[in-house]
Amino acid sequence: MPRIAYVNGAFVPLEDAKVSVLDRGFLFADGVYEVTAVIDGKLVDNAAHLARLERSLGEIEMAHPVPLDTLTELQLELARRNELTEGGIYLQVTRGAAERDFAYPKDATPTLVMFTQERNLVDDPRAKNGVAVVTTPDLRWKRRDIKSVAMLAQAMAKQEAAKVGAAEAIMVEDGVVTEGSSSTAWIVKDGRLITRNLSNSVLPGVTRLSVLALCEELGLEVEERTYTVDELHEADEVFITAATTLVMPVTKVDDRIMSNGAPGPIATRLRQLYIETARRTSVG
Ligand code: PLP
Repeated sequence: MPRIAYVNGAFVPLEDAKVSVLDRGFLFADGVYEVTAVIDGKLVDNAAHLARLERSLGEIEMAHPVPLDTLTELQLELARRNELTEGGIYLQVTRGAAERDFAYPKDATPTLVMFTQERNLVDDPRAKNGVAVVTTPDLRWKRRDIKSVAMLAQAMAKQEAAKVGAAEAIMVEDGVVTEGSSSTAWIVKDGRLITRNLSNSVLPGVTRLSVLALCEELGLEVEERTYTVDELHEADEVFITAATTLVMPVTKVDDRIMSNGAPGPIATRLRQLYIETARRTSVG
């Protein structure tokens, strides 16, 4: 079955999904994006993804391509046309095509592009044994709270991880962990969960938000604060969260085997509960 993408009002075969070389997403990374997980053909945590999209657009004074409720309909229609039961929907909005000039153009129409990716989320084989991660310097800009498509620094970090067979790079700045290259990083110490507090230094993860709610439900104590690489190395458990991995246990950090090389009990419980909750609350 041919993959179908959505480009500016039309559903088209992926190979015909094209935007202009003058598109500011291409020329300036002048765009923002979201990835929504799909489980059982339904959208997981999508209201929070669209709320974050709205905030990202606002922060860079970019017009909405379509109203938010129309976006949900388009996402569901795209999932349906691709017969997507599990994976993700990638959605990108750019400021559109305009004569190349740094300042924002006055009359450009935003570009909206969407495509789907099949992915094993619930039965992700990596969740069984946990993944390896490596620490890398955080080379990014100062507005990481905006889900910008300018992700060369993250691609470089992920490549460092890939070179040594690790699944994720945990980025570090001034001795403290910021986040994963495409995930939120968490540690557990003495039964307490620790994840970075929100600020311009990190992306406000949607999965992070849902996991925080689950922690509250379970009565788990959480500290939202900076933590050092030493704390990461000495944690009882480490895990990462993202729409593309859900809750993913980490069993190796740099050269250290974590939680005796097996997914920790808290990460395991949160993964289970996250999936149950996602199945109950997803939209479609
Ligand atoms: N942090 C960064 C830098 C990311 O790129 C991502 C996801 O792509 C996340 C965190 C996790 O965010 P979410 O849980 O909304 O997928």
